[in-house]
Amino acid sequence: MKLEPAVYTLSVFNKFKDRVVHGISQRSGGSSNGCYSSLNLGLHVGDNADAVVENRKRFSKQMGTDLSRVVCCEQVHGTNIHVVTKKDMGSGAFTLDDIIKDTDGLVTNEKNIPLMLFFADCAPLLIYDPQHNAIGLAHAGWRGTVGNIAANTLQVMHDTYGTEPSDCIAAIGPCIGQCCYEIGDNVAEKFISLFSSLSVPSSVLSQILLRRADKYHLSLYEANKELLLLQGVKMENIAAEHCCTSCNVEKFYSYRAENGKTGRHAALIYLK
Ligand SMILES: [Zn+2]
Repeated sequence: MKLEPAVYTLSVFNKFKDRVVHGISQRSGGSSNGCYSSLNLGLHVGDNADAVVENRKRFSKQMGTDLSRVVCCEQVHGTNIHVVTKKDMGSGAFTLDDIIKDTDGLVTNEKNIPLMLFFADCAPLLIYDPQHNAIGLAHAGWRGTVGNIAANTLQVMHDTYGTEPSDCIAAIGPCIGQCCYEIGDNVAEKFISLFSSLSVPSSVLSQILLRRADKYHLSLYEANKELLLLQGVKMENIAAEHCCTSCNVEKFYSYRAENGKTGRHAALIYLK
């Protein structure tokens, strides 16, 4: 008997579960081996493509949908957002050949078109606008975070659907925690400069960047939470759960903890 893939969910969306389905895949219940074991969903990491497609089919089914409907984008650590419509269905789902290029965030207001992005330490940003029934999903590593992909996603949702951040439910999914994320001074300086330009007080900046043993440690969770708050998302509408992929490498893929030789878990979200 096949193990069912385990799915991580964020309780902030519970209130809307009749309208929006979301989940982050975990490592169990897949068909990949070795460092990809077992539910690797990344096609670009050197795993057997047939195994990855089989894993994606299992996860899609577990999420109540079909892989042929799923939309994926290239994820280049940029800040471009693509507005997804029916014609995009299946893009990047079975092969990288037809993936949406040069894009790190997807938004849609069309039902039954799942957005799926891949992660191993970078932060998934999940957004739901209950007023306009629209969703957004973005990939925020340190580059995307410092580029403010959180604000970009909300801006595209505003321009396209009339979304107001103050109505939105948002979550920062499992990502590498401050506990495990040492960064170079050059990267830290980019965050200090961004948050200074946004007039973020030093008490908040010290939550985002911790100086420990002469090195900076970055919290992608706190950084993206602050960027969402600055756009007007309400604190009570942002998921408080905060899970470190590197500390939980038995459940999630971690690029840092596994020295780059690893697979990818996925965040998936769609409107019912
Ligand atoms: Zn950790």
